[in-house]
Amino acid sequence: MKALSLFAACVIFVFLPNNARCQTEITEWPDGKRGAVSITYDDGSMNQFRYALPVMERLKLPATFYVITGSITGSKYPGKFVGRPTQQIINESATVPTSTDNYFERASAAKYLGYVGANRYYDSSAGLYEDAKEKEAYVVMDSLYAKVRNGSLKKGKELSMEMSDEQGLSWDSIKVYASKGYEFASHTVTHAHVTVLDTTNIFYELEKSKQDIKDHLGEKYCFTAEIPFGIEHPRAMKYALPFYPALRNLMTDPYMEEINRGYKTQPGLSTKEYVQWQRGPTTKTPLPLMKSWVDTVLAHDNIWLVLVFHGIDGMGYEALPHELLDTYFTYLKAHENDLWIATFSDVAKYMRERMNASVTADENKNSIKISLRHSLDTKDYNVPLTLKTYVSKEWKKVLLSQGKHHERVSIQEDAKGNYVLYKMMSNSEIVEITHQ
Ligand SMILES: [Zn+2]
Repeated sequence: MKALSLFAACVIFVFLPNNARCQTEITEWPDGKRGAVSITYDDGSMNQFRYALPVMERLKLPATFYVITGSITGSKYPGKFVGRPTQQIINESATVPTSTDNYFERASAAKYLGYVGANRYYDSSAGLYEDAKEKEAYVVMDSLYAKVRNGSLKKGKELSMEMSDEQGLSWDSIKVYASKGYEFASHTVTHAHVTVLDTTNIFYELEKSKQDIKDHLGEKYCFTAEIPFGIEHPRAMKYALPFYPALRNLMTDPYMEEINRGYKTQPGLSTKEYVQWQRGPTTKTPLPLMKSWVDTVLAHDNIWLVLVFHGIDGMGYEALPHELLDTYFTYLKAHENDLWIATFSDVAKYMRERMNASVTADENKNSIKISLRHSLDTKDYNVPLTLKTYVSKEWKKVLLSQGKHHERVSIQEDAKGNYVLYKMMSNSEIVEITHQ
């Protein structure tokens, strides 16, 4: 069904001396699997590490954690408002109503005015703005500043629910989890509504969060990010997209259809080369429905299921019991022969490398020399691709060589003929397949 783009991306036909047609293709997923699954967690709540992570470790499953960097112990950059003294902004609000001219500044300062209860107004106003209800958003912002001026809010510091649930998470523990193969990525400094901030504060949220991750874990962990609330608002995306190669919110690869958490579109209807299908189970999602997502991936060959989890065991948004995750992940694991379960970044990299790669095959009677190249930056795009090379029916035993490395590989058969399956890094030495 995707023969055209596959042809364009990565297939080359050559002719063996005996006129049997030989062909090499890069398989849609590693090892010729049917589909991909990424398990992702948002907000870094402590229970994700206390209760969900041990389940994943036992089952040897990878995951991606989108963490709010400002509240992690050891972070260099806490949440803050970058701008004029907040008292000036408060004073001005007495005579100048909220409008296009000052909304972003007032929204950026809202969490930092020093009053308990301000977060609720900030969230509600941002939600309205993101829904294109600007006038209503301004009214809510006006009422926050009026309450601050007339003293009806209590003075004090207030953390958002997300930041308070993350209290106790440290970079030291994150480093330990990362060393076991778990991916960590940015969820901004403060779980901010990026859409309603002024540009200075948008840059603070994006840049400083990325910097903390880079300083503590390294550049490798700056490939993906999730801008909070799953938003795709064009204003937020305009600033966030250039910061990260693969935002979970929005990927714009033309060969991929993206079905986000709120959408009901069936992924099986897509004719694109890849479908990224995000599902975010809540407390109301029945386990059979969650399992059916896995079955849908297995029934096609182009679906990347991205699971989005938040709270665990009573802590965090839509908290699920870890026993439910245990049952679900055990179901996933049971299908691992057909499913590639990998971090968000690894799947994004594989897909893009494959779509930007070309294979050339140099044939003679008893060997095929394969060269694989892609046009992407190999610093970021460094996952091996799986190649499938059809060989002559006469060949009974095959040796695979790359430089000094030699390996016997078994010959498999499908409707198109006999083939060998092997992994290869792009832009590396040629692989020689030899008839023994
Ligand atoms: Zn979040």
